[in-house]
Amino acid sequence: MPQSSSPASQTTPLTYMRSKMDEADTMFKEGLADISQPSDLTQLAGKLLDLCNDVSDHLAHICAVKPVACHNGCDICCKSLIQINPIFARLALEHARDIFTQERLEQLHQRLVEGTPFCPFLFDGSCSIYEKRPMVCRGYYSLDISMCQTGIFCEGETGYQGDDGHAAHQYRIFLFVLEKRIEEIERGFGIEPGPVFLHEAVRDLWSERVHG
Ligand code: SF4
Ligand code: SF4
Repeated sequence: MPQSSSPASQTTPLTYMRSKMDEADTMFKEGLADISQPSDLTQLAGKLLDLCNDVSDHLAHICAVKPVACHNGCDICCKSLIQINPIFARLALEHARDIFTQERLEQLHQRLVEGTPFCPFLFDGSCSIYEKRPMVCRGYYSLDISMCQTGIFCEGETGYQGDDGHAAHQYRIFLFVLEKRIEEIERGFGIEPGPVFLHEAVRDLWSERVHG
């Protein structure tokens, strides 16, 4: 007997993206209504990262033209100095404080003080804050890791494949739009959206908490 298609399977990547963009807009509106001070923006950004996790997983499911090579444990793109919007440094540190052991927190602190040539959240070749990694880390992707080894990220020669072409491409557009929206809100609050180096922003936040 033929199986009936679920509504999700009939959704094209583009219509799915539009529905998620609407969801993000609602989240922005509701989140902004609750904000009484600039630091409350962090909470909103955290919810957006959770939405990003869902969107990424679902797009890969409905738009799996070719799997991306990225996964936690692939760390070539983590071995450079990462520049981010500072709000994601705050989220990264908060998440680390929630999930790290005391020993790992001390290792992180040591890296922040002494400096590292790679991202301070990279431990044993994996991202230690993967669920809450900054937007910019999600924007790096590749269909072929050998390209990353030559320093070329994203689609490279594969290029744009049409509006319904590739989950990673759709996801990148989603991230771009969200990030621009966050920047606009930050500026409205008089916050400079950067970019700043991740390790420097986290180090400053660390001492802010210690000395604050
Ligand atoms: S962009 Fe390249 S190096 Fe980074 S996670 Fe993806 S495949 Fe690995
Ligand atoms: S936060 Fe995670 S994904 Fe981003 S650069 Fe650092 S280790 Fe890599």
